[in-house]
Amino acid sequence: MVIADVTGALASVKSAMEIAKALLAAENAIEVAALKMQVAQLMGSLADVQTKVIEANEVIEARDKEIGTLRDALELKAKVVKRLDAYHESDENGNPKGDPFCMRCFEADHRLFHVTLGGRLNDAAICPQCKSRYDGSRVSRLHGT
Ligand SMILES: [Zn+2]
Repeated sequence: MVIADVTGALASVKSAMEIAKALLAAENAIEVAALKMQVAQLMGSLADVQTKVIEANEVIEARDKEIGTLRDALELKAKVVKRLDAYHESDENGNPKGDPFCMRCFEADHRLFHVTLGGRLNDAAICPQCKSRYDGSRVSRLHGT
């Protein structure tokens, strides 16, 4: 859709340039009058072109933002490893270490939030961001090996 808009915009710009050249080359009042009518029509299509270029720019900016988000998610994915129902930072050997991150937030939104652990081993662990609850025996703090 963006490419079709840009192609249409380029065609309108080309028409505008041809009319401008013809205006410069016009040698009598009749030719000038006919070209002025074409210019009036062209102004309407140039306004459409302007709108389409602005819309295309917005689409491109949204795509750039999405690419940045996906790039960040890829970088994040390389830094964490899953263990049972949580993600953890990975150590130099690729093993999970440290405090657990919410599995739902990472898998759905590509964001890392530590879960809040209960006081005892089997207490539920809760994500402060999405409020997901995890079985405390499957989400735990890992100490280095
Ligand atoms: Zn969460």
